[in-house]
Amino acid sequence: MIFSNPCCDDLKAALTGGEDNVLKLLDGEGSPLVLVSHSVWGQAAGKPAKGRVMAPVYFCPFCGKRLQTREGVKRLAERGVKAMAEMRRDLK
Ligand SMILES: [Zn+2]
Repeated sequence: MIFSNPCCDDLKAALTGGEDNVLKLLDGEGSPLVLVSHSVWGQAAGKPAKGRVMAPVYFCPFCGKRLQTREGVKRLAERGVKAMAEMRRDLK
């Protein structure tokens, strides 16, 4: 199971609002929902940036509904390992 539609207004707002893209679809529609950790605070504080960290989101952080399964994300990742590796490199 891979994320398809926002389950609640809060998640919808988190996906469509703001400019920091903390929650985003890894590669557009049909790709896993991931949480992206930026280093904006570290940069502002003059600390060395650690880069970005991305982790799949399995449950809605707002209402707790299951959005994806580990198996679904893993299956997709195995299929697109190369493409995802390239994307990760681009994000750094
Ligand atoms: Zn929700």
